[in-house]
Amino acid sequence: MRDVLDPSTGAVVDRVPELAPADVDAVLARTLGAHAEWSRSGVRARRDVLREIAHLIRINTDYLARLESTQAGKPIGAARGEVGAAAEVFEFYAGAVDKIHGSTIPGNADGTLLTFREPIGPSVAIVPWNFPLLILCWKVAPALAMGNAVVAKPASQTPLTAVALAELAEGAGLPPGTFQVVTGPGGSLGEALVTDPRVRKVSFTGSTEVGRRIMALAAEDITRVGLELGGKSANLVFDDLSDDQLDACVASSLWSVFDNTGQDCCARSRMFVHESVVEDFTERLVAATEAIRIGPTADDETELGPLISEEQRAIAEGYVASAQADGARLRTGGSRPDLPGSYLAPAVLDRADVGMRFMREEIFGPVVGIQPFRTEAEAVALANASIHGLSGSIWCRDVGRALRVARGVETGMLSVNTSSSVHIEAPFGGVKQSGIGRDQGLVALEHFSELKTVFIAAD
Ligand code: NDP
Repeated sequence: MRDVLDPSTGAVVDRVPELAPADVDAVLARTLGAHAEWSRSGVRARRDVLREIAHLIRINTDYLARLESTQAGKPIGAARGEVGAAAEVFEFYAGAVDKIHGSTIPGNADGTLLTFREPIGPSVAIVPWNFPLLILCWKVAPALAMGNAVVAKPASQTPLTAVALAELAEGAGLPPGTFQVVTGPGGSLGEALVTDPRVRKVSFTGSTEVGRRIMALAAEDITRVGLELGGKSANLVFDDLSDDQLDACVASSLWSVFDNTGQDCCARSRMFVHESVVEDFTERLVAATEAIRIGPTADDETELGPLISEEQRAIAEGYVASAQADGARLRTGGSRPDLPGSYLAPAVLDRADVGMRFMREEIFGPVVGIQPFRTEAEAVALANASIHGLSGSIWCRDVGRALRVARGVETGMLSVNTSSSVHIEAPFGGVKQSGIGRDQGLVALEHFSELKTVFIAAD
Protein backbone atom coordinates (compact mmCIF):
# COMPACT_ATOMS: atom_id res chain seq x y z
CA MET A 1 0.00 0.00 0.00
CA ARG A 2 1.12 3.55 -0.62
CA ASP A 3 0.15 6.69 1.25
CA VAL A 4 -1.48 9.55 -0.62
CA LEU A 5 -0.49 12.91 0.89
CA ASP A 6 -2.10 16.33 0.95
CA PRO A 7 0.71 18.63 -0.29
CA SER A 8 -0.82 21.60 1.54
CA THR A 9 -0.36 19.94 4.94
CA GLY A 10 1.81 16.88 4.41
CA ALA A 11 -0.94 14.76 6.04
CA VAL A 12 -1.82 11.27 4.82
CA VAL A 13 -5.32 11.40 3.29
CA ASP A 14 -5.70 7.88 1.90
CA ARG A 15 -3.85 4.69 0.98
CA VAL A 16 -3.95 2.80 -2.33
CA PRO A 17 -2.62 -0.62 -3.37
CA GLU A 18 0.75 -0.82 -5.10
CA LEU A 19 0.38 -3.33 -7.91
CA ALA A 20 3.40 -5.19 -9.28
CA PRO A 21 4.24 -6.32 -12.84
CA ALA A 22 2.95 -9.80 -11.95
CA ASP A 23 -0.55 -8.29 -11.56
CA VAL A 24 -0.63 -7.02 -15.14
CA ASP A 25 -1.55 -10.38 -16.65
CA ALA A 26 -4.92 -10.58 -14.89
CA VAL A 27 -5.67 -6.91 -15.58
CA LEU A 28 -4.99 -7.25 -19.30
CA ALA A 29 -6.88 -10.54 -19.57
CA ARG A 30 -9.90 -8.64 -18.28
CA THR A 31 -9.20 -5.77 -20.66
CA LEU A 32 -9.04 -8.09 -23.67
CA GLY A 33 -12.36 -9.68 -22.79
CA ALA A 34 -13.98 -6.29 -22.29
CA HIS A 35 -12.44 -4.95 -25.50
CA ALA A 36 -13.98 -7.78 -27.52
CA GLU A 37 -17.42 -6.77 -26.28
CA TRP A 38 -17.07 -2.96 -26.27
CA SER A 39 -15.46 -2.79 -29.72
CA ARG A 40 -18.57 -4.43 -31.17
CA SER A 41 -21.00 -2.09 -29.40
CA GLY A 42 -23.00 0.37 -31.49
CA VAL A 43 -22.21 4.06 -31.62
CA ARG A 44 -25.46 5.00 -29.89
CA ALA A 45 -24.75 2.69 -26.97
CA ARG A 46 -21.29 4.23 -26.60
CA ARG A 47 -22.70 7.75 -26.90
CA ASP A 48 -25.23 7.08 -24.15
CA VAL A 49 -22.61 5.69 -21.75
CA LEU A 50 -20.22 8.59 -22.34
CA ARG A 51 -23.06 11.08 -21.84
CA GLU A 52 -23.99 9.38 -18.57
CA ILE A 53 -20.36 9.48 -17.37
CA ALA A 54 -20.35 13.24 -18.03
CA HIS A 55 -23.61 13.58 -16.10
CA LEU A 56 -22.23 11.61 -13.13
CA ILE A 57 -19.06 13.73 -13.13
CA ARG A 58 -21.19 16.88 -12.99
CA ILE A 59 -23.45 15.73 -10.16
CA ASN A 60 -20.37 14.61 -8.20
CA THR A 61 -18.46 17.85 -8.75
CA ASP A 62 -18.00 18.69 -5.08
CA TYR A 63 -16.79 15.21 -4.18
CA LEU A 64 -14.34 14.98 -7.10
CA ALA A 65 -13.10 18.55 -6.59
CA ARG A 66 -12.38 17.89 -2.92
CA LEU A 67 -10.45 14.72 -3.79
CA GLU A 68 -8.47 16.50 -6.53
CA SER A 69 -7.77 19.54 -4.37
CA THR A 70 -6.56 17.37 -1.50
CA GLN A 71 -4.29 14.99 -3.41
CA ALA A 72 -2.82 17.55 -5.85
CA GLY A 73 -2.67 20.62 -3.59
CA LYS A 74 -4.99 22.64 -5.83
CA PRO A 75 -7.10 25.57 -4.65
CA ILE A 76 -10.66 24.25 -4.39
CA GLY A 77 -11.97 26.75 -6.97
CA ALA A 78 -9.44 25.55 -9.54
CA ALA A 79 -10.27 21.93 -8.74
CA ARG A 80 -13.98 22.60 -9.38
CA GLY A 81 -13.03 24.12 -12.74
CA GLU A 82 -11.03 21.02 -13.60
CA VAL A 83 -13.97 18.75 -12.80
CA GLY A 84 -16.25 20.84 -15.03
CA ALA A 85 -13.71 20.58 -17.84
CA ALA A 86 -13.53 16.80 -17.32
CA ALA A 87 -17.31 16.54 -17.80
CA GLU A 88 -17.00 18.62 -21.00
CA VAL A 89 -14.49 16.12 -22.36
CA PHE A 90 -17.00 13.27 -22.04
CA GLU A 91 -19.78 15.47 -23.45
CA PHE A 92 -17.63 16.31 -26.47
CA TYR A 93 -16.72 12.70 -27.21
CA ALA A 94 -20.30 11.50 -26.61
CA GLY A 95 -21.31 13.83 -29.44
CA ALA A 96 -18.30 12.87 -31.57
CA VAL A 97 -18.75 9.08 -31.48
CA ASP A 98 -20.66 9.01 -34.78
CA LYS A 99 -18.82 11.87 -36.51
CA ILE A 100 -15.76 9.86 -37.49
CA HIS A 101 -15.86 7.07 -40.05
CA GLY A 102 -14.26 5.54 -43.10
CA SER A 103 -14.85 6.53 -46.71
CA THR A 104 -15.31 5.24 -50.22
CA ILE A 105 -12.40 6.07 -52.50
CA PRO A 106 -12.40 6.48 -56.28
CA GLY A 107 -10.23 3.76 -57.81
CA ASN A 108 -10.11 1.66 -60.96
CA ALA A 109 -13.35 0.64 -62.60
CA ASP A 110 -12.80 -2.98 -61.60
CA GLY A 111 -14.03 -2.60 -58.03
CA THR A 112 -14.79 -0.45 -55.01
CA LEU A 113 -12.36 0.85 -52.38
CA LEU A 114 -13.59 1.33 -48.82
CA THR A 115 -11.92 2.31 -45.59
CA PHE A 116 -13.13 1.29 -42.16
CA ARG A 117 -12.08 3.15 -39.05
CA GLU A 118 -11.68 0.46 -36.43
CA PRO A 119 -10.81 0.51 -32.71
CA ILE A 120 -7.04 0.47 -32.27
CA GLY A 121 -7.15 -2.24 -29.60
CA PRO A 122 -6.58 -2.54 -25.85
CA SER A 123 -5.07 0.77 -24.76
CA VAL A 124 -3.06 2.10 -21.83
CA ALA A 125 -3.19 5.66 -20.47
CA ILE A 126 -0.33 6.81 -18.23
CA VAL A 127 -0.95 10.20 -16.68
CA PRO A 128 0.83 12.71 -14.42
CA TRP A 129 -0.04 14.46 -11.19
CA ASN A 130 -0.50 18.05 -12.36
CA PHE A 131 -4.09 17.73 -13.76
CA PRO A 132 -4.81 14.16 -12.68
CA LEU A 133 -8.50 13.95 -13.58
CA LEU A 134 -8.59 16.17 -16.66
CA ILE A 135 -5.61 14.66 -18.49
CA LEU A 136 -6.96 11.18 -17.73
CA CYS A 137 -10.27 12.15 -19.36
CA TRP A 138 -8.44 13.49 -22.46
CA LYS A 139 -7.24 9.92 -23.03
CA VAL A 140 -9.98 7.67 -21.66
CA ALA A 141 -12.94 9.44 -23.32
CA PRO A 142 -11.69 9.20 -26.95
CA ALA A 143 -10.36 5.67 -26.34
CA LEU A 144 -13.82 4.54 -25.14
CA ALA A 145 -15.60 6.56 -27.83
CA MET A 146 -13.69 4.63 -30.53
CA GLY A 147 -14.65 1.29 -28.93
CA ASN A 148 -11.44 0.49 -27.05
CA ALA A 149 -11.03 -0.93 -23.57
CA VAL A 150 -8.47 1.05 -21.57
CA VAL A 151 -6.25 0.58 -18.52
CA ALA A 152 -5.13 3.76 -16.77
CA LYS A 153 -2.12 4.21 -14.53
CA PRO A 154 -2.32 7.49 -12.62
CA ALA A 155 0.72 9.13 -11.05
CA SER A 156 1.59 7.60 -7.68
CA GLN A 157 1.00 10.93 -5.89
CA THR A 158 -2.52 11.44 -7.32
CA PRO A 159 -4.48 8.20 -7.88
CA LEU A 160 -7.72 9.11 -6.09
CA THR A 161 -9.76 10.86 -8.80
CA ALA A 162 -8.78 8.18 -11.34
CA VAL A 163 -10.14 5.47 -9.07
CA ALA A 164 -13.29 7.53 -8.48
CA LEU A 165 -13.77 8.08 -12.24
CA ALA A 166 -13.58 4.33 -12.94
CA GLU A 167 -16.28 3.74 -10.33
CA LEU A 168 -18.50 6.43 -11.86
CA ALA A 169 -17.96 4.94 -15.33
CA GLU A 170 -19.20 1.53 -14.22
CA GLY A 171 -22.17 3.23 -12.58
CA ALA A 172 -22.86 4.87 -15.94
CA GLY A 173 -23.25 1.47 -17.58
CA LEU A 174 -19.75 0.91 -18.96
CA PRO A 175 -19.26 -2.89 -19.04
CA PRO A 176 -16.96 -4.10 -16.23
CA GLY A 177 -13.29 -4.27 -17.27
CA THR A 178 -13.67 -1.72 -20.09
CA PHE A 179 -11.97 0.98 -18.02
CA GLN A 180 -9.68 -0.21 -15.24
CA VAL A 181 -7.38 1.85 -13.05
CA VAL A 182 -4.20 0.29 -11.68
CA THR A 183 -2.08 1.97 -9.02
CA GLY A 184 1.62 1.40 -8.53
CA PRO A 185 5.06 2.62 -9.57
CA GLY A 186 5.59 3.83 -13.12
CA GLY A 187 9.06 2.32 -13.35
CA SER A 188 7.80 -1.25 -12.76
CA LEU A 189 4.01 -1.44 -13.20
CA GLY A 190 3.97 1.22 -15.96
CA GLU A 191 6.74 -0.49 -17.90
CA ALA A 192 5.02 -3.88 -17.59
CA LEU A 193 1.94 -2.38 -19.24
CA VAL A 194 3.93 -0.65 -21.98
CA THR A 195 5.89 -3.79 -22.90
CA ASP A 196 2.97 -6.23 -22.92
CA PRO A 197 2.35 -7.27 -26.55
CA ARG A 198 -1.42 -7.37 -25.94
CA VAL A 199 -1.41 -3.57 -25.55
CA ARG A 200 -1.85 -1.83 -28.91
CA LYS A 201 -1.65 1.81 -27.86
CA VAL A 202 0.01 3.76 -25.05
CA SER A 203 -1.08 7.33 -24.50
CA PHE A 204 1.28 9.11 -22.10
CA THR A 205 1.52 12.56 -20.56
CA GLY A 206 4.51 13.43 -18.40
CA SER A 207 8.18 14.22 -18.56
CA THR A 208 10.20 14.10 -21.79
CA GLU A 209 12.62 11.70 -20.10
CA VAL A 210 9.93 9.08 -19.33
CA GLY A 211 8.31 9.70 -22.73
CA ARG A 212 11.60 8.83 -24.43
CA ARG A 213 11.82 5.62 -22.37
CA ILE A 214 8.23 4.63 -23.22
CA MET A 215 8.86 5.23 -26.93
CA ALA A 216 11.95 3.02 -26.83
CA LEU A 217 10.10 0.24 -24.99
CA ALA A 218 7.12 0.47 -27.34
CA ALA A 219 9.41 0.05 -30.35
CA GLU A 220 9.81 -3.66 -29.57
CA ASP A 221 6.24 -4.53 -30.61
CA ILE A 222 5.65 -1.39 -32.71
CA THR A 223 3.04 -0.40 -30.12
CA ARG A 224 1.45 2.91 -31.08
CA VAL A 225 2.38 5.78 -28.77
CA GLY A 226 0.95 9.21 -28.13
CA LEU A 227 3.28 11.40 -26.07
CA GLU A 228 2.44 14.74 -24.50
CA LEU A 229 5.68 15.82 -22.86
CA GLY A 230 7.44 18.79 -21.38
CA GLY A 231 7.25 22.38 -22.47
CA LYS A 232 9.20 25.64 -22.16
CA SER A 233 6.72 27.94 -23.80
CA ALA A 234 7.34 31.54 -24.80
CA ASN A 235 5.25 34.62 -24.09
CA LEU A 236 6.12 37.24 -26.74
CA VAL A 237 5.15 40.82 -25.89
CA PHE A 238 5.51 43.46 -28.62
CA ASP A 239 5.64 47.22 -28.21
CA ASP A 240 2.37 48.35 -29.78
CA LEU A 241 -0.04 47.65 -26.91
CA SER A 242 -2.02 50.50 -25.35
CA ASP A 243 -1.69 51.06 -21.61
CA ASP A 244 -4.94 49.14 -20.95
CA GLN A 245 -3.87 46.36 -23.28
CA LEU A 246 -0.55 46.02 -21.49
CA ASP A 247 -2.48 45.69 -18.22
CA ALA A 248 -4.63 42.93 -19.74
CA CYS A 249 -1.52 41.27 -21.14
CA VAL A 250 0.14 41.27 -17.70
CA ALA A 251 -2.99 39.95 -15.97
CA SER A 252 -3.16 37.06 -18.40
CA SER A 253 0.61 36.44 -18.64
CA LEU A 254 0.70 36.12 -14.84
CA TRP A 255 -1.55 33.05 -14.87
CA SER A 256 -0.02 31.70 -18.08
CA VAL A 257 3.00 30.77 -15.95
CA PHE A 258 1.78 30.62 -12.34
CA ASP A 259 -1.52 28.76 -12.79
CA ASN A 260 -1.38 25.40 -10.96
CA THR A 261 1.72 26.78 -9.18
CA GLY A 262 3.65 26.60 -12.45
CA GLN A 263 3.13 22.84 -12.70
CA ASP A 264 1.69 23.07 -16.18
CA CYS A 265 3.25 21.78 -19.39
CA CYS A 266 1.93 24.89 -21.21
CA ALA A 267 3.44 27.32 -18.66
CA ARG A 268 4.89 30.38 -20.39
CA SER A 269 8.02 30.22 -18.27
CA ARG A 270 10.05 32.27 -20.78
CA MET A 271 8.82 35.81 -21.37
CA PHE A 272 10.38 37.76 -24.23
CA VAL A 273 9.43 41.43 -24.15
CA HIS A 274 10.32 44.26 -26.54
CA GLU A 275 13.16 46.30 -25.03
CA SER A 276 11.11 49.52 -25.04
CA VAL A 277 8.42 48.06 -22.73
CA VAL A 278 10.34 45.40 -20.81
CA GLU A 279 10.81 47.42 -17.60
CA ASP A 280 7.18 48.59 -17.59
CA PHE A 281 5.97 45.01 -18.21
CA THR A 282 8.26 43.62 -15.49
CA GLU A 283 7.17 46.16 -12.88
CA ARG A 284 3.50 45.40 -13.55
CA LEU A 285 4.14 41.63 -13.50
CA VAL A 286 6.01 41.89 -10.18
CA ALA A 287 3.13 43.90 -8.64
CA ALA A 288 0.57 41.37 -9.90
CA THR A 289 2.69 38.47 -8.62
CA GLU A 290 2.93 39.99 -5.17
CA ALA A 291 -0.87 40.38 -5.09
CA ILE A 292 -1.53 36.66 -5.67
CA ARG A 293 -3.44 35.12 -2.77
CA ILE A 294 -1.44 32.12 -1.52
CA GLY A 295 -3.20 30.06 1.12
CA PRO A 296 -4.96 26.91 2.29
CA THR A 297 -6.35 24.94 -0.64
CA ALA A 298 -9.80 24.51 0.94
CA ASP A 299 -10.25 28.30 1.07
CA ASP A 300 -12.39 29.66 -1.79
CA GLU A 301 -10.28 32.84 -1.86
CA THR A 302 -6.99 31.01 -2.43
CA GLU A 303 -5.48 31.48 -5.88
CA LEU A 304 -2.19 29.59 -5.49
CA GLY A 305 -1.56 26.32 -3.68
CA PRO A 306 1.61 24.41 -2.82
CA LEU A 307 3.81 22.41 -5.16
CA ILE A 308 3.02 18.72 -5.38
CA SER A 309 5.83 17.71 -2.97
CA GLU A 310 8.83 18.87 -0.97
CA GLU A 311 11.02 17.42 -3.76
CA GLN A 312 9.28 19.50 -6.43
CA ARG A 313 9.68 22.64 -4.28
CA ALA A 314 13.38 21.91 -3.83
CA ILE A 315 13.72 21.54 -7.63
CA ALA A 316 12.07 24.93 -8.19
CA GLU A 317 14.25 26.57 -5.52
CA GLY A 318 17.31 25.04 -7.18
CA TYR A 319 16.34 26.70 -10.48
CA VAL A 320 15.93 30.10 -8.78
CA ALA A 321 19.41 29.73 -7.29
CA SER A 322 20.95 28.61 -10.59
CA ALA A 323 19.29 31.53 -12.41
CA GLN A 324 20.83 34.00 -9.98
CA ALA A 325 24.22 32.29 -10.20
CA ASP A 326 23.98 32.63 -14.01
CA GLY A 327 23.36 36.39 -13.73
CA ALA A 328 19.57 36.73 -13.73
CA ARG A 329 18.07 39.17 -11.21
CA LEU A 330 15.38 38.03 -8.75
CA ARG A 331 12.70 40.73 -8.73
CA THR A 332 10.30 38.98 -6.37
CA GLY A 333 9.43 35.62 -4.78
CA GLY A 334 11.43 32.45 -4.39
CA SER A 335 10.91 32.34 -0.62
CA ARG A 336 8.86 29.95 1.49
CA PRO A 337 5.60 31.48 2.79
CA ASP A 338 4.79 30.93 6.43
CA LEU A 339 2.45 28.00 5.75
CA PRO A 340 2.66 24.27 6.34
CA GLY A 341 3.12 22.25 3.14
CA SER A 342 5.34 22.70 0.09
CA TYR A 343 4.47 26.32 -0.79
CA LEU A 344 6.78 28.67 -2.68
CA ALA A 345 6.22 32.36 -3.43
CA PRO A 346 6.21 32.75 -7.25
CA ALA A 347 9.57 33.98 -8.53
CA VAL A 348 10.05 36.60 -11.27
CA LEU A 349 13.58 36.96 -12.65
CA ASP A 350 14.66 39.47 -15.27
CA ARG A 351 17.99 39.88 -17.10
CA ALA A 352 17.46 36.30 -18.22
CA ASP A 353 19.06 34.71 -21.25
CA VAL A 354 18.00 31.65 -23.24
CA GLY A 355 21.43 30.17 -22.60
CA MET A 356 20.81 29.96 -18.84
CA ARG A 357 19.80 26.56 -17.44
CA PHE A 358 16.53 27.88 -15.94
CA MET A 359 15.55 29.20 -19.40
CA ARG A 360 16.34 25.89 -21.11
CA GLU A 361 14.84 23.24 -18.84
CA GLU A 362 11.24 22.63 -17.82
CA ILE A 363 10.99 23.69 -14.15
CA PHE A 364 7.42 22.71 -13.26
CA GLY A 365 7.28 25.30 -10.53
CA PRO A 366 6.36 29.01 -10.14
CA VAL A 367 9.46 30.51 -11.76
CA VAL A 368 9.59 32.83 -14.78
CA GLY A 369 12.47 34.47 -16.67
CA ILE A 370 12.16 37.71 -18.65
CA GLN A 371 14.48 38.56 -21.55
CA PRO A 372 14.24 41.64 -23.80
CA PHE A 373 14.31 41.52 -27.62
CA ARG A 374 14.78 44.20 -30.28
CA THR A 375 13.29 42.86 -33.53
CA GLU A 376 10.51 40.54 -34.64
CA ALA A 377 13.06 38.12 -36.10
CA GLU A 378 14.94 38.05 -32.80
CA ALA A 379 11.70 37.36 -30.89
CA VAL A 380 10.97 34.34 -33.10
CA ALA A 381 14.55 33.07 -32.78
CA LEU A 382 14.41 33.33 -28.98
CA ALA A 383 11.06 31.50 -28.86
CA ASN A 384 12.58 28.73 -30.98
CA ALA A 385 15.74 28.43 -28.86
CA SER A 386 14.36 25.38 -27.03
CA ILE A 387 14.21 21.63 -27.43
CA HIS A 388 10.51 21.93 -26.63
CA GLY A 389 7.61 23.27 -28.70
CA LEU A 390 4.31 22.90 -26.90
CA SER A 391 2.48 26.18 -26.47
CA GLY A 392 3.00 29.95 -26.34
CA SER A 393 1.44 33.39 -26.65
CA ILE A 394 1.90 36.48 -28.79
CA TRP A 395 0.76 39.90 -27.61
CA CYS A 396 0.49 42.61 -30.29
CA ARG A 397 -2.09 44.71 -32.18
CA ASP A 398 -0.62 44.23 -35.64
CA VAL A 399 -2.49 41.28 -37.21
CA GLY A 400 0.13 40.86 -39.92
CA ARG A 401 2.86 40.58 -37.31
CA ALA A 402 0.80 38.18 -35.20
CA LEU A 403 0.35 35.90 -38.22
CA ARG A 404 4.01 36.08 -39.29
CA VAL A 405 5.21 35.30 -35.77
CA ALA A 406 2.61 32.55 -35.32
CA ARG A 407 3.89 30.92 -38.53
CA GLY A 408 7.50 31.31 -37.43
CA VAL A 409 7.31 29.85 -33.93
CA GLU A 410 7.95 26.10 -33.76
CA THR A 411 5.13 24.96 -31.52
CA GLY A 412 2.05 22.77 -31.39
CA MET A 413 -0.24 25.51 -30.05
CA LEU A 414 -0.15 29.28 -29.91
CA SER A 415 -2.53 31.94 -28.60
CA VAL A 416 -2.72 35.54 -29.77
CA ASN A 417 -3.64 38.19 -27.19
CA THR A 418 -4.71 35.52 -24.70
CA SER A 419 -3.08 32.71 -22.75
CA SER A 420 -5.71 30.10 -23.35
CA SER A 421 -4.30 26.82 -24.74
CA VAL A 422 -6.92 24.23 -23.89
CA HIS A 423 -9.97 23.81 -26.11
CA ILE A 424 -11.60 20.38 -26.09
CA GLU A 425 -12.67 20.88 -29.74
CA ALA A 426 -9.09 21.45 -30.97
CA PRO A 427 -5.89 19.35 -31.09
CA PHE A 428 -3.59 19.66 -28.06
CA GLY A 429 0.05 18.59 -28.27
CA GLY A 430 3.55 19.59 -29.20
CA VAL A 431 6.37 19.48 -31.72
CA LYS A 432 10.09 18.73 -31.20
CA GLN A 433 10.70 17.08 -27.81
CA SER A 434 7.27 18.14 -26.54
CA GLY A 435 5.72 15.04 -27.99
CA ILE A 436 4.05 13.05 -30.73
CA GLY A 437 0.36 12.97 -31.60
CA ARG A 438 -2.47 15.05 -30.21
CA ASP A 439 -4.98 14.83 -27.40
CA GLN A 440 -8.44 16.42 -27.69
CA GLY A 441 -10.52 17.28 -30.73
CA LEU A 442 -11.65 14.80 -33.37
CA VAL A 443 -8.01 14.00 -34.11
CA ALA A 444 -7.75 12.10 -30.79
CA LEU A 445 -10.32 9.65 -32.17
CA GLU A 446 -8.04 9.04 -35.14
CA HIS A 447 -5.20 8.28 -32.72
CA PHE A 448 -7.34 5.63 -30.99
CA SER A 449 -8.28 3.91 -34.26
CA GLU A 450 -6.72 2.17 -37.25
CA LEU A 451 -7.74 2.50 -40.88
CA LYS A 452 -8.49 -0.70 -42.75
CA THR A 453 -8.68 -0.58 -46.55
CA VAL A 454 -11.00 -3.06 -48.27
CA PHE A 455 -11.11 -3.50 -52.05
CA ILE A 456 -14.18 -5.24 -53.44
CA ALA A 457 -13.89 -6.56 -56.97
CA ALA A 458 -16.76 -5.60 -59.28
CA ASP A 459 -17.20 -9.15 -60.56
P1 NDP B 1 6.94 11.38 -14.88
O1 NDP B 1 7.06 11.58 -16.34
O2 NDP B 1 8.00 10.68 -14.16
O3 NDP B 1 5.57 10.59 -14.54
C1 NDP B 1 4.38 10.68 -15.31
C2 NDP B 1 3.65 9.34 -15.26
O4 NDP B 1 4.48 8.31 -15.83
C3 NDP B 1 3.35 8.86 -13.84
O5 NDP B 1 2.13 8.13 -13.86
C4 NDP B 1 4.51 7.93 -13.55
O6 NDP B 1 4.24 6.98 -12.54
C5 NDP B 1 4.68 7.26 -14.89
N1 NDP B 1 6.02 6.69 -15.11
C6 NDP B 1 7.19 7.06 -14.55
N2 NDP B 1 8.20 6.31 -15.03
C7 NDP B 1 7.65 5.45 -15.93
C8 NDP B 1 8.18 4.43 -16.77
N3 NDP B 1 9.48 4.14 -16.79
N4 NDP B 1 7.34 3.74 -17.56
C9 NDP B 1 6.02 4.00 -17.55
N5 NDP B 1 5.46 4.96 -16.79
C10 NDP B 1 6.26 5.69 -15.98
O7 NDP B 1 6.68 12.76 -14.22
P2 NDP B 1 6.98 13.13 -12.70
O8 NDP B 1 5.69 13.08 -12.05
O9 NDP B 1 8.03 12.33 -12.05
O10 NDP B 1 7.53 14.59 -12.88
C11 NDP B 1 8.88 14.83 -13.28
C12 NDP B 1 8.95 16.00 -14.21
O11 NDP B 1 8.20 15.71 -15.40
C13 NDP B 1 8.30 17.27 -13.72
O12 NDP B 1 9.13 17.99 -12.90
C14 NDP B 1 7.99 17.97 -15.00
O13 NDP B 1 9.11 18.65 -15.47
C15 NDP B 1 7.64 16.85 -15.93
N6 NDP B 1 6.21 16.65 -16.06
C16 NDP B 1 5.59 17.10 -17.18
C17 NDP B 1 4.23 16.96 -17.30
C18 NDP B 1 3.52 17.46 -18.48
O14 NDP B 1 2.30 17.62 -18.43
N7 NDP B 1 4.18 17.71 -19.58
C19 NDP B 1 3.42 16.35 -16.27
C20 NDP B 1 4.18 15.86 -15.14
C21 NDP B 1 5.52 16.02 -15.08
P3 NDP B 1 4.76 7.27 -11.04
O15 NDP B 1 4.04 8.47 -10.57
O16 NDP B 1 4.37 6.04 -10.33
O17 NDP B 1 6.24 7.48 -11.12
